[in-house]
Amino acid sequence: MQYISDPQVRLVTRPSINWAAIADFLDSEGLPPIPDSIRSGDDESSAVVEISARLCYMSYGRGRKDISDFINNLLSKGDGSVFEHVNYGFVISGISRSLTHELVRHRAGFAYSQRSQRYVDESESDFIIPPALNENDAKTIKAADVMKAAMESSLSSYKNLVSELDKIIPEEQFESLSDRRKAIRQAARSVLPNATETKIFVTANVRAWRHFIEMRGAGFADWEIRNLAIIILKILEQESPLLFSDFTIDKLPDGTLTAKPKYSKI
Ligand SMILES: Cc1cc2nc3c(=O)[nH]c(=O)nc-3n(C[C@H](O)[C@H](O)[C@H](O)COP(=O)(O)OP(=O)(O)OC[C@H]3O[C@@H](n4cnc5c(N)ncnc54)[C@H](O)[C@@H]3O)c2cc1C
Repeated sequence: MQYISDPQVRLVTRPSINWAAIADFLDSEGLPPIPDSIRSGDDESSAVVEISARLCYMSYGRGRKDISDFINNLLSKGDGSVFEHVNYGFVISGISRSLTHELVRHRAGFAYSQRSQRYVDESESDFIIPPALNENDAKTIKAADVMKAAMESSLSSYKNLVSELDKIIPEEQFESLSDRRKAIRQAARSVLPNATETKIFVTANVRAWRHFIEMRGAGFADWEIRNLAIIILKILEQESPLLFSDFTIDKLPDGTLTAKPKYSKI
């Protein structure tokens, strides 16, 4: 069992364009080819937005020539639906169940796959130390000790419950051993705390990620999810500068960070 303070956030999926198919479509419509200027370096996310937005008016080769100008115009007008074509997926670990309970409240444009506490044994679980309890700070070390004692007690109760339930739940009630293990674990997990470490695969489109970062990067959001929102923002700013560069990151008097977009809820 370990105590964890920092999440691991891995970007695992990103958009990609089949340029040959796009060229074929334009050719079939008698439209000019997409100019190189539509690409923002290796980042194809802005090009996805531009190609989809231009389809609405069949305006390929016309109008704004600068992609940054084009994207900012869409953001400022709140033409959010074209940003739904761009998806990014993360595998996130080292976060608490309380964080994921907040995360999964975001529904529109999100997909989730989370480690199951019914199928997976939690006897060796790790726990998240909330950002407010810095183990290395003399001021909070006592509170961190209280927290750790609670975690140890919960884990011990979990293991005892698994052991007791294993003695009393009859095998013949279940079609398989795996079903029986699930029945035991689903009951025993009730004593695990919000701080239990979990892992989740989250995919969302850019419109949804922007909304998530705006809501959870705000000063009134819980520190743990706020920290995650800012880590995700920093990764997406690198991946897709034009779609996220209007966000600013500021430091609050307590030393924590907040994120705010120029263009709110597109
Ligand atoms: C600081 C903070 C404190 C919170 N405290 C609480 C709390 O105490 N209790 C609690 O229950 N929740 C709480 N929440 C969760 C909050 O109420 C939302 O459920 C969560 O933030 C997801 O936001 P959303 O619905 O805008 O997001 P998404 O589900 O990502 O939706 C994005 C947008 O799509 C639209 N949309 C999505 N679904 C629908 C729909 N079914 N119908 C119509 N429009 C839709 C809305 O415009 C919505 O804003 C809190 C959130 C924050 C940030």
